[in-house]
Amino acid sequence: MKRLVVLGGGESGVGTALLGKEKGFDVFVSDFGALKKVYKDVLKHNEIEWEEGKHTAYKILNADVVMKSPGISEQVPIVKALLETGIPVISEIEFAAQFTSADIIGITGSNGKTTTTMMANHILNQAKFDVVMGGNIGDSFAGLIHKDPDYFVLELSSFQLDGIKNFRPHIAVLTNITPDHLDRYANKFENYIASKFRIILNQTKQDYLIYDADDEVISTYLQTHPIQSTLVPFSLTKTLAQGTYLNEKEIIIKLIKEENIMPTTNLALEGKHNIKNAMAAATVAHLLKIRKETIRESLECFQGAEHRLEHVLKINKVQYINDSKATNVNATYFALESMSAPTVWIVGGVDKGNDYSALFPFINEKVKAIICLGKDNEALFQNFEQMVDIIVETQYMSEAVKIAYNIATAGENVLLSPACASFDLFKNYEDRGHQFKSAVRAL
Ligand code: ADP
Repeated sequence: MKRLVVLGGGESGVGTALLGKEKGFDVFVSDFGALKKVYKDVLKHNEIEWEEGKHTAYKILNADVVMKSPGISEQVPIVKALLETGIPVISEIEFAAQFTSADIIGITGSNGKTTTTMMANHILNQAKFDVVMGGNIGDSFAGLIHKDPDYFVLELSSFQLDGIKNFRPHIAVLTNITPDHLDRYANKFENYIASKFRIILNQTKQDYLIYDADDEVISTYLQTHPIQSTLVPFSLTKTLAQGTYLNEKEIIIKLIKEENIMPTTNLALEGKHNIKNAMAAATVAHLLKIRKETIRESLECFQGAEHRLEHVLKINKVQYINDSKATNVNATYFALESMSAPTVWIVGGVDKGNDYSALFPFINEKVKAIICLGKDNEALFQNFEQMVDIIVETQYMSEAVKIAYNIATAGENVLLSPACASFDLFKNYEDRGHQFKSAVRAL
């Protein structure tokens, strides 16, 4: 019996453990932190051995294969020890993929993964495809293998891609690449770029890479590296001989055949970034030969994911918008870009070494006031103090929302788009978004 050791007992760890058990492995789960009760219960119920608060070396170094959860760095001692002994350390995605023959649509990028994944899944569902969505969103891929669908639509993070060896999506989507998580990549942007491009590692000519041709990081990489995949670009700015582009605000796909999909004004979601996401998802559907009418109808009624430019309420004609998921500058860039009225902007949190300069033009043009909501707001003051009349700070969401309420007047927006991680004042970005929404509802 082969021994599978799972490092990290979260969603992907427990999913892998269950799948391993079902496939006949001797499974052991080890977590250096504490396991959540729900996961403990599942492991107990399935008679899977586990430990928490430690990594017991002799129970781990005898593995035939190790699944490392994406949150665990390669620098932790037990992983280093495993790598030195040559035991294969793979990700949950790699482990799970060997047990399915479904076609995989894998979606990665710095921003827009969740939205694009949900859009693609929505279109495939509307087209009555037998499809299951998961990965970095919802249930783990390993936990979904037993559903045995024809298609998987998977959101994939760079950490999940780091641990693949043979994983091969038939259709890969790369939404964009901007600096993020550099702490995990030795502060080298090129390492992070390479990690994202692992999505096409095993692709052949029969497989597709759909990517943003307006993204210079992606274009430069494609020009300087040999690529097997059939390339399918999309662009907001260029007319393409092959790919997806705009003609007078109409989304055109020119691939298998040329099709006018729909005017961008009919998309349910606002913002240029969502036009990109819609183009990517529509292109996936087109490659799967879904009718353009279905694509169009799906994108017209697609409801966005929570915490992503989510319209919360209008109070005294002021629109309150929750974009708590914007944890980096690029995401906030698109949020501010899509504002069409003067905006009171709530920003701040854990700054991962942000360069805010890309936002400067929007500050002059659209931002009426800035409310800094973080433990340490110094970088925000340094960057923006000279650019707006009103800049204040607070450490309470309820106060931030009340201040915004007092500043914004009819026709204006209040936007929470932090450009920062949330864990200085909140549990996670969902908690931050929920607190924002409750505070708005309490006004
Ligand atoms: P991810 O899963 O990659 O974090 P989401 O779809 O959850 O992406 O969106 C994260 C944040 O980025 C949100 O604030 C959203 O408004 C913004 N965003 C969504 N799509 C894009 C895109 N294509 N480019 C830049 N920002 C985007």
